Amino acid sequence: MANETAPSLHRPIKIWTDSLSNLMAILNPKSHHSVVREIQTLLLSHKHIHLRWLKAHVGYLGNECADQLAKEAITKGDPFLLPKPLPYLKSEIKSPALSIWQDNWDNGETGRSTHDIVPRLSNKPVGWNREEIMFVTGHGPYPSNLHRFNLRTHDNCSCGEKGDPMHYATKCRFTLSWHFQTPTVSLKLQWLKNILTNNLSRTRLRLLMRFICDENNLIVEDNN
Ligand SMILES: [Zn+2]
Repeated sequence: MANETAPSLHRPIKIWTDSLSNLMAILNPKSHHSVVREIQTLLLSHKHIHLRWLKAHVGYLGNECADQLAKEAITKGDPFLLPKPLPYLKSEIKSPALSIWQDNWDNGETGRSTHDIVPRLSNKPVGWNREEIMFVTGHGPYPSNLHRFNLRTHDNCSCGEKGDPMHYATKCRFTLSWHFQTPTVSLKLQWLKNILTNNLSRTRLRLLMRFICDENNLIVEDNN
């Protein structure tokens, strides 16, 4: 008798869903989601179960009932633990991590000149080239920076004035060919932003920085 009933167990079973994204996930052989993998394994070993898609909210009675039951399950159902997808977890971690980073950045003591121009952090690159980074951060072959790390006895340029990025961009007689107009103190930030967003100014800044790097002996000659 068992032989007669067995084939009926394998009559095709159709499961209808209006979620195309769920079906696409199940169709994806590379999915890493554990629930998807589990469903795929089940479907492979139970070939009589067929999944089908149908349009939502057009009045298919069974589908509307399923929707209704799903809504009730949210309020009346028992809690059900489902592993959360990776992208969701990533976004959950990213936001507090960014806010801790932002807090450290706002209240830090170093990199203040960079903070002035990039106050809001993000994980997208600012798009500055090497020379622009050296200029904005002050971490370049300037006497001011070398002195800070005790690589020189003083922070003067060979011309006698303090050798920091602003000096070379606006005042020093060795870098006359690449000078920018000296900004007033209150407009310095806007001045810097303008340079970094204007292609001609960026080229000039790059040439200035290359000159400082190449002619470093001339500029940072240590007379002491
Ligand atoms: Zn100078």
